[in-house]
Amino acid sequence: MVAIEIECRACHARRPLTNPSPTCPHCGGQWAEARYQWIEPADKEAVDRWTAVLARRGASLWRYRELLPIGHAENIITLGEGWTPLLRAHNLGQMLGHHHIYIKDERQGPTGSFKDRQAAIAISAMKEAGITEAVVASTGNVAIAYSAYCARAGIKLWAFVTSSVPADKMREVALYGSEVIKVAGTYDQAKQIAAEFAASKNLFLDQGIKAIATKEAMKTIAFETAEQLGSLLAGDDPTIPHGNRHPWRAPDWYLQAISGGMGPVGVMKGFAELHEMGLTGRVPKLACFQSSGCAPMAEAFQRGARQAEAILNPLTDITTLATGIPGEAYEVLFDLLAAHGGVIEAIPDADTFHALHTVAKMDGISVEPATAVAFAGLFKLVREGIIAPHEIVVINCSGHTFPVEKHIIGDQYTRNMAPTNGQDAPTSARQEGLLTALEELDNRVQRIAIIEDNPDAARLIRRILQAQGDFLIDEANNGLDGLRLIQQVRPNLVILDLMMPGLDGFGIVEAMKTNPALHEIPIVVVTAKELSPIERQRLDGKIKALLQKGSFLDSDLLSDIKQALPQT
Ligand SMILES: *Cc1c(COP(=O)(O)O)cnc(C)c1O
Ligand SMILES: [Zn+2]
Repeated sequence: MVAIEIECRACHARRPLTNPSPTCPHCGGQWAEARYQWIEPADKEAVDRWTAVLARRGASLWRYRELLPIGHAENIITLGEGWTPLLRAHNLGQMLGHHHIYIKDERQGPTGSFKDRQAAIAISAMKEAGITEAVVASTGNVAIAYSAYCARAGIKLWAFVTSSVPADKMREVALYGSEVIKVAGTYDQAKQIAAEFAASKNLFLDQGIKAIATKEAMKTIAFETAEQLGSLLAGDDPTIPHGNRHPWRAPDWYLQAISGGMGPVGVMKGFAELHEMGLTGRVPKLACFQSSGCAPMAEAFQRGARQAEAILNPLTDITTLATGIPGEAYEVLFDLLAAHGGVIEAIPDADTFHALHTVAKMDGISVEPATAVAFAGLFKLVREGIIAPHEIVVINCSGHTFPVEKHIIGDQYTRNMAPTNGQDAPTSARQEGLLTALEELDNRVQRIAIIEDNPDAARLIRRILQAQGDFLIDEANNGLDGLRLIQQVRPNLVILDLMMPGLDGFGIVEAMKTNPALHEIPIVVVTAKELSPIERQRLDGKIKALLQKGSFLDSDLLSDIKQALPQT
């Protein structure tokens, strides 16, 4: 067994891992971290032996067990957590002009959020400590994940959740056999009540971010990310753990939506350990995002303060993130940001819901609103130039939307069909009725031509238009075919690239403007080219809008198109 100790953050005194008290016996400090003797100082040979072993281990977070706080393998409770995919965000990257945006898809955990990692380690640790009944407070996802793992471990769980947690989430907690206690109040009040309940019944209380297990669980995101990035950047298959076959790679940025902040605290510890072991060359910058209705950490950070003021009445629809009292975690994050660089930002809920739609429609990833906060944050940092185009960004895709949030898409999202035409009508009439109904399903009236030679750019624009639903799309991938297409179909609008071999975009604009049959068709130019004053003059008055590739969001293009289209 590997020697593990707990170190107090305040006085650095150490105690054995087997001491379950969260409080430092020397100074009363409440924040402690696990230290692994064999990586401090890093012993290069030991690290080499370890990565050689990793090359033979399976794809779960337990592959890193020497650096996890569970002593005996028989105490491990697993549902196959960890080793979630690291997906390249092709369309989003194309849209933002950033080609190294990677999504760590934590939705693919056993209960659909990255809390599965925490549950796996925390419940295994409970089992190791002989605990059979426990109390936890949660904004939803921890209660679900803990309940699943507690079911397997034979631990009775009392889950205190706020009444704003969606009913479907509460039902899942109950389904696993936990006691669900709905607290009509804030998350911080639920935590308080849970603590009092645990104390009065003398039950084990989960310490959340203060627990060793929590931070150690989250750091496996860093380990996996560095291994997977190593594979991806070496052109290898990132779904297969490589151990020592490639150099490990840390990203330039780690992005996450936060509530109490345990994700980034643990993930940054993981990156620091990899760096200490000499496996990676750096610790990434950190970007954390809170919902602006409950953003005590972002507010303090923006003021430059190392202490955050509590928010007692969170005003956000994003329940998962409603931690109003950040406590010591904020100080820890503040120090991490000072050491490695980065930001904490507040994101308005409206931006979050917009980002939620964008990520789903552009890259096929449906996330819960808490997760969308991070994507809205990504868009913000890219727009402000805080994240540079060449930087490697990893974003924690923290949870799936499936059980919740029915309001996101309203109730008008289906097209209804009732192919009845009377059972006694002749077959031919019935078929005609069906055909009319099918025809009505597709009522696209506006026709848009995309003239673009770069297939990635064409795909991006096509996708933006498709997800909107209202347009018939024609495409041409060079200037001459483009002009022929325009003459043939007379689209309602043309989306035009400027730089193309043969007849370029300028040529098409001029050809259209001198042809009376085409000169009224509005043109939206989407280009990667920096225009000279003369080139600008050539387009002046002839096009409706000009968008710079890699610097517009789907909504920008759509609003330009809507303004340019002739009103029907
Ligand atoms: C818990 C949670 C967060 C916030 O994470 P912390 O690191 O605890 O602040 C974000 N997204 C989802 C889906 C979560 O469940
Ligand atoms: Zn201490």
